[in-house]
Amino acid sequence: MTATPGTPVIAFLGLGHMGLPMAVNLVQAGHEVRGFDLVPAAILAAEAAGIPVAASGADAVTDADVVITMFPAGKHVIEAYRAELLAAARPGTLFIESSTIAVDEARTAHELAIAAGHRNIDAPVSGGVVGAENGTLAFMVGASDEDFATALPLLKAMGKRIVHCGGPGLGQAAKVCNNMILAVSQIAVAEAFVLGERLGLEHQALYDVVSQASGQCWSITTNCPVPGPVPTSPANRDYLPGFAGALMAKDLGLALQAIEQTSTDAQMGRLAQRIYAAFAAGEGAGRDFSGIITDIRDDRV
Ligand code: NAD
Repeated sequence: MTATPGTPVIAFLGLGHMGLPMAVNLVQAGHEVRGFDLVPAAILAAEAAGIPVAASGADAVTDADVVITMFPAGKHVIEAYRAELLAAARPGTLFIESSTIAVDEARTAHELAIAAGHRNIDAPVSGGVVGAENGTLAFMVGASDEDFATALPLLKAMGKRIVHCGGPGLGQAAKVCNNMILAVSQIAVAEAFVLGERLGLEHQALYDVVSQASGQCWSITTNCPVPGPVPTSPANRDYLPGFAGALMAKDLGLALQAIEQTSTDAQMGRLAQRIYAAFAAGEGAGRDFSGIITDIRDDRV
């Protein structure tokens, strides 16, 4: 697809599970995209998907109007900003940081970008690889009104729901709060099914009640942890993710960091962090996080 004249030139760094399909959606929306990744296999996959790849991160951002980063963790973002990206970009470049990183790392990245004469927003996502491929991600954005308005058309090319959560760092704050709720509710639903089993309650009967009652939540109606009631849930395919335990454990580590920094009395969040850290230390790392029900049933939590 040829780029539409007048649209911003985008450097897309980090072409992994999420980044590559996001970059492909930008190209399909008519943007000129230059990609870069440190890993040769990711570069080959990007080229095969029609993304031109630069020789280095610095090369990709030179002359770009917008730089999007989709890295594993905050340390990669801050290191890359410091090492080369901020110095190589033209003054006034908009940096969109979409990796899931700690709130204070997002604020550090923002301050570094501003000090180097650039603009920066945090725009983490939810929706996983399927959402990235289908262009249906949810973006949680921490940005000034002006930077949000500049980024919005690009985010719309990659996502369906885009929420401006407030100033710098508050996109990551919303993400960490949402995933803390998700972890706690998935554990609660799993405990209820195991308790029901021990009381002689059929899975379907419990589902029929809870899915229409006040206990209703995503963890039962979409990610039901037992096979049967929701045929598309990971429980029906031996907990193939879905959302892997390793990613949930990572996000809860960021939640714990935020809980401690703000001295918040979040006992359920702290407990969920411990439970998923243990889950992800074993086979749970590669299983959907709803597989926690197996550990609860086997008294391993
Ligand atoms: P991934 O490991 O598949 O991809 C990250 C890529 O970044 C890798 O290919 C790595 O080589 C590259 N990279 C690291 N440093 C780089 C640098 N300096 N320059 C260029 N490339 C660099 O990870 P992913 O699954 O795509 O996740 C990316 C981010 O999105 C993570 O922060 C993750 O927590 C978040 N996230 C992932 C999911 C998911 O379902 N995978 C869902 C929501 C959010």
